[in-house]
Amino acid sequence: MYTTAQKYKWASVRVFYYFNILIMALTGGLSIYVVAPYTSYMFFNDLAFWKYLKYYHKLIVQLYRIMGFWLFDPKYREMYTQPLTSPPSLGPDRRKIKLSAHWQKADNDCGNCINCCIKIKCPLIDHQRKLCLSYNTVYWRYFSCGCYPASQKQIDYYECPKWVIKESSLEVDVKTRKASLI
Ligand code: SF4
Ligand code: SF4
Repeated sequence: MYTTAQKYKWASVRVFYYFNILIMALTGGLSIYVVAPYTSYMFFNDLAFWKYLKYYHKLIVQLYRIMGFWLFDPKYREMYTQPLTSPPSLGPDRRKIKLSAHWQKADNDCGNCINCCIKIKCPLIDHQRKLCLSYNTVYWRYFSCGCYPASQKQIDYYECPKWVIKESSLEVDVKTRKASLI
């Protein structure tokens, strides 16, 4: 059970991030340079922003790309799930997911697959080493990456060959949806 103080902190981190995203969108991305240390800390866990300035213009492009997904891709909108007060995640909720029967590799790595990162053309992936440059940062833990996958819709959207949602979870999901319709 989480305390109200914890939930308040998690929501504050997200609301402040979304506020910065809004300002960024309204300024054509320029505000990312005004709050450069914050950006660098969020995405790279390092206040030394000058080391990461080479990524900033890519983050601006990514912002507008994601806005495009939101506006024009209903499947993207449907599968996004990130309650403001949810705890930051260091990995998916293993109570809800299981390995696909076809997955041949270990459960703690994705082999050479980077489907979920290339699907949205994320600029934070190191294509050569197939590594996430933002792994375990505030951005990674508080938003979609750390808790991925959280639903079958996400798994389907990203064509993930590794995970499936447990049937018991799907039943709970359907019951929850039914309850919300009553
Ligand atoms: S895991 Fe890393 S590279 Fe992949 S989408 Fe998330 S931030 Fe981008
Ligand atoms: S799509 Fe699935 S298997 Fe591929 S990188 Fe993402 S989580 Fe791993």
